[in-house]
Amino acid sequence: MSDPVIYLDHAATAPIDPRVRAAMDESLAAAPGNPSSGHPGGRAARERIEAARAEVAALIGAPAAAIVFTSGATEADNLAILGAARANAARGRHLVSLRTEHRAVLDPLARLAREGFRVTLLTPAADGLIDPAALERALEPGTTLVSVMLVNNEIGVVQDLAAIAAACRRAGALLHVDAAQAAGRVPFEVGALDADLVSLAAHKVHGPVGVGALYVRRAPRPALEPLAYGGGQEGGLRPGTLAAHQIVGMGRAYALARAALHEEPARLAGLRDRLWAALAPLPDVHLNGHPEARAPHILSVSFGGVDGEALRCELPQLAVSSGSACASGHGEPSYVLRALGRDDALAQATLRFSVGRQTTVADVDAAAVGVRRALERLRALAPA
Ligand SMILES: *Cc1c(COP(=O)(O)O)cnc(C)c1O
Repeated sequence: MSDPVIYLDHAATAPIDPRVRAAMDESLAAAPGNPSSGHPGGRAARERIEAARAEVAALIGAPAAAIVFTSGATEADNLAILGAARANAARGRHLVSLRTEHRAVLDPLARLAREGFRVTLLTPAADGLIDPAALERALEPGTTLVSVMLVNNEIGVVQDLAAIAAACRRAGALLHVDAAQAAGRVPFEVGALDADLVSLAAHKVHGPVGVGALYVRRAPRPALEPLAYGGGQEGGLRPGTLAAHQIVGMGRAYALARAALHEEPARLAGLRDRLWAALAPLPDVHLNGHPEARAPHILSVSFGGVDGEALRCELPQLAVSSGSACASGHGEPSYVLRALGRDDALAQATLRFSVGRQTTVADVDAAAVGVRRALERLRALAPA
């Protein structure tokens, strides 16, 4: 499922960086071989894959050997959750996560519940943060896996994973972290995070779609059952011929994100804060998520007294992802916002702004003017 996104970037998904595209083109032209083959083209592709693995690992402070390439964060989440739950089922069949997780976490958990696992889904506080003590109280001797995302994709809150990881250690449970929205935006190292499994995506940081990775801790190594069986690639955890050009693209995107890690998050936070400063004085406007514990690139705002569908349709200058496009007719209020206690009307009248590498101050200012005018128009038409 695509994230409900209104981008200030110039496309509906974090647009691929031209340098990433160039690296992928170069890889296809220079090393088109099957990386599993012994031919020179295969060897060249293999070398590029290993260089990309080192770049992906470097962004999160991991050893390259801990990175398993997948088709995206959805597959990484599925491999982590289905794989760890099934491989550790003899030790226990209880799993813990949050109601506000991505569908790529909730849906495999629902699948496991149908296989006889017990799943506890906790509700965070209204600000989106889970109290680590509340999470610890949910852990039982038979809890084998806890899954908590680092950055929420809808509202951007950053969970206190150090405290959550400590609780998992005390209970002997594995910790999986969906960090698809965190990589390149919120600096973190897997060592400090103390997570056993971490899911990553390329396209959330201006890389290609269709490629991601799962970090799998080396020592102690969590037991994982693969989702597929085949040629033994990626340590048998993700067999199949590797998509070398996609992986090269992810490596380049992560290298670019790492090179900019000391300036770009602060710049994005400045844009986000500028946008909020322009919207906050408007009547009946509500920030979603904790005001400080937030990733720099996401701003979620609910607007009272307007219909969300109509509001999105009034803002054609903002690219809107298919999940929430006005033309698509999906008016369903977000389950994340409802879990945090927003009523249906406010949850439905919510815009999720996302700023990226190409977003400028002028883009933010134009977006704020557009939203203000749209609100005035709609509220004049249908006074609350
Ligand atoms: C985008 C996203 C995913 C899914 O990633 P894909 O690479 O598109 O499969 C999973 N989790 C979170 C938090 C995301 O933002």
